[in-house]
Amino acid sequence: MQKKLLSIVVPVYNEQEVIDETFRRLSDVFGDYFMQVEYIFINDGSKDDTYRKLTQIAKNRPEVRVINFARNFGHQIAITAGMDYAKGDAVVIIDADLQDPPEVILKMVERWQEGYEVVYGKRLQREGETFFKKFTAKMFYRFLDSMTDVKLPVDVGDFRLIDRKVCDTMKRLPERSRYVRGLVSWVGFKQTSVEYRREKRFAGETKYPLKRMVKLAGDGIFSFSYKPLKLATFTGMIISAFSFIYLIVVLIQKFTKNDVASGWASSMAVSLFFNGVMLIVLGIMGEYVGRIYEEVKARPLYIVGELLGFDTKNIEEND
Ligand code: UDP
Ligand code: MG
Repeated sequence: MQKKLLSIVVPVYNEQEVIDETFRRLSDVFGDYFMQVEYIFINDGSKDDTYRKLTQIAKNRPEVRVINFARNFGHQIAITAGMDYAKGDAVVIIDADLQDPPEVILKMVERWQEGYEVVYGKRLQREGETFFKKFTAKMFYRFLDSMTDVKLPVDVGDFRLIDRKVCDTMKRLPERSRYVRGLVSWVGFKQTSVEYRREKRFAGETKYPLKRMVKLAGDGIFSFSYKPLKLATFTGMIISAFSFIYLIVVLIQKFTKNDVASGWASSMAVSLFFNGVMLIVLGIMGEYVGRIYEEVKARPLYIVGELLGFDTKNIEEND
């Protein structure tokens, strides 16, 4: 019987300090494993020495494949590309910075063999991250859960194992604003988790500054929920009700009193407030319209510059 194949997908962006160590740790774990293993590194437009290091690794190891993006497309897209090119019976997604310990994959594979089709890593503790990052992450997962219609597990990143079936299903989802962990929950299948401690980054610094975290949060919320739209409508209705009442009050005053107040302050307050609400509602609309525009343009999710370590048959299938 042929050994089953495990694909390990690693998105990499400016990780020159870690990448060698990451590969060393991974090959330590899977040195003589009962499964065959392929590594797929996606170089997401790194500007440092990462790509050269990856070519070096790929040169000596037939099981290493590299997808070199033409520019930086972002973490979620890199993961998507890795899943597109992975051939394994199971596919594991893991960060390059060793925050997710490679040893945990062994536990994931065990659960997979028990019959689970998605095994996600649940973060018990997060080491070496700022209080701000931990706090915002925690708030975000809970807020997202309350906003969305799909049940999304909390404190779970993209570190997970998915079965071939799930991977194939994911490949059929064409959407552009990708929030991969949300999509994985959305497709269903038998899911479970393994708990692990999220370590410090081995070296280098986070590629998720606040701006990118906000974008990821936006993708999570707006791609999985219409609640913000409902919220906009709801706020609009409440405010119109109040303003209608106030309008009546104003009219009554106008006709019953002769000294109509010069009311500059109150009218300013009202107009500022309404303009604010209007802008918020417009912004929410804009989020959805923008997303619709992205989908309609139907551009490819990513552009591949070079492929290393794939056989040609493999490449044709993916084009
Ligand atoms: N990453 C990527 N493209 C990007 C940003 C990040 O491929 O535009 C990769 C990065 O190299 C790492 C993973 O995504 O392997 C997670 O990034 P990071 O560790 O910076 O995020 P954090 O763990 O701080 O949330
Ligand atoms: Mg990290």
